[in-house]
Amino acid sequence: MTDPDPGNRFERELAARKAIGRYRTLRETNPSIHPGRVECNNRERINFSSNDYLGLSRHPHLLKKSREAVQQFGSSAASSRLLTGTQSLHRQVEERLARWMKCDRALLFSTGFQANATLLPALAGRGDVIIADKECHNSMLHGCLMSRATLYRFRHNDLNHAETLLKKARSNQDGAVWLVTESLFSMNGDHAPLDALQELALRYGAQLYVDDAHAFGVYGEEGRGVCFGRESLGVVVTTFGKAAGSFGAAVFCSDLIAEFIINTCSGFIYTTALPPAIVGALDAALDLIPAMDEERTRLLSNAEKVRRSIAEAGRVVVDGSSHIIPVVIGDDHETVRTARELEAQDLLVSAIRPPTVPEGSARLRISLTSDHTDEDIQKLITALQPSDER
Ligand SMILES: *Cc1c(COP(=O)(O)O)cnc(C)c1O
Repeated sequence: MTDPDPGNRFERELAARKAIGRYRTLRETNPSIHPGRVECNNRERINFSSNDYLGLSRHPHLLKKSREAVQQFGSSAASSRLLTGTQSLHRQVEERLARWMKCDRALLFSTGFQANATLLPALAGRGDVIIADKECHNSMLHGCLMSRATLYRFRHNDLNHAETLLKKARSNQDGAVWLVTESLFSMNGDHAPLDALQELALRYGAQLYVDDAHAFGVYGEEGRGVCFGRESLGVVVTTFGKAAGSFGAAVFCSDLIAEFIINTCSGFIYTTALPPAIVGALDAALDLIPAMDEERTRLLSNAEKVRRSIAEAGRVVVDGSSHIIPVVIGDDHETVRTARELEAQDLLVSAIRPPTVPEGSARLRISLTSDHTDEDIQKLITALQPSDER
């Protein structure tokens, strides 16, 4: 039966969320003058919840180039890309990205969410099949569902399951088959088996679609991400609101696919071009990222240290090697309580609960950045020891 007053439904659903400890609220967090830290509730806290993996969001070079872009190009592009929103800055940065990533073309998108949610429906449609990892980002799920392609989802990183579904797709369907994954999973901090997925895609004539959001800037030669240097990856998406310290996203692809996107992808066509301030900051990030091997090395060696130390302390750490370190607690309330305890020690770690992660796998999601000092890392490790040993 439909509810005559939707307001009642809103109230009911929110009350139900409160009752099971899944009510979400916004909190204010402001930048601190000290790297790797933020101000919240009038206290300075070490930020283990940020995606600013290389600490670029406050880098003077990004701020400078962003200001210069505003001076030259204005506070808004004030039009969509196909009308008058393509400024020389957009063209230059796209060309630079394509050259650096050694692919035919790079196209800027407003956000990673928008790219995934609208590229997949542009690339795949009725009669096609999409086979996606079950833990793909919500934006990819949006895209898959909007595409009207038949959607199969394989168990996280399970190649046998992916292969079973590829066989099924091949026997039932004449259309194109897309194999969709993240390269480094945002909530699990583990890598997809890209070599094997590429091999499967080749064997079954599928196209690969990879979201490299958390690897760009951190992994690969000069920080080009884990997809760099791989032949025949169909489409790679990355975002610039994480390690690049800016905002927006890009798709890397062939000339043909780029032309197809420009002509058909709603999220590219029907939206205002990225503002100059953002593209200027991105351009500056591209000046710096290639030379940041020292930061990348420190970040990943700190990740290794934190993973090892807290696993030794008896915590359940999701297998992996990256700077995203999920500590699975299980129970929602217990997870939130642990995050509060850490916060009382000025350590800001996010509690991630279902439906963002599967039921019963609520977790702390620690994300490290190259701004964290040895003392910060040690403080985190100590705080995560069992309480009787502290
Ligand atoms: C953060 C993220 C996105 C969204 O990117 P935005 O630019 O923030 O919209 C998409 N995919 C993955 C895997 C992400 O982690």
